[in-house]
Amino acid sequence: MKCRYHQDREARFVCQKMGIGYCQECLDNCEACTNPCTYCKFRQSCIIWELCRRSEKRYRLEKAASGGLEK
Ligand SMILES: [Zn+2]
Repeated sequence: MKCRYHQDREARFVCQKMGIGYCQECLDNCEACTNPCTYCKFRQSCIIWELCRRSEKRYRLEKAASGGLEK
């Protein structure tokens, strides 16, 4: 499997929910989780989520999504 964003690289992590691979750089940049704000049954065991959760970007994404989808 190749990285979703870098077709020349082997994926090092795979999103179990979406079945999409990502390389280390994408994970470092927090580009890996396609759905950081919606429910994911794999999240508890998701390495992508785990490694990304402390990032500033994830925080912003989540904040934007909760603001946009609030009922
Ligand atoms: Zn990549």
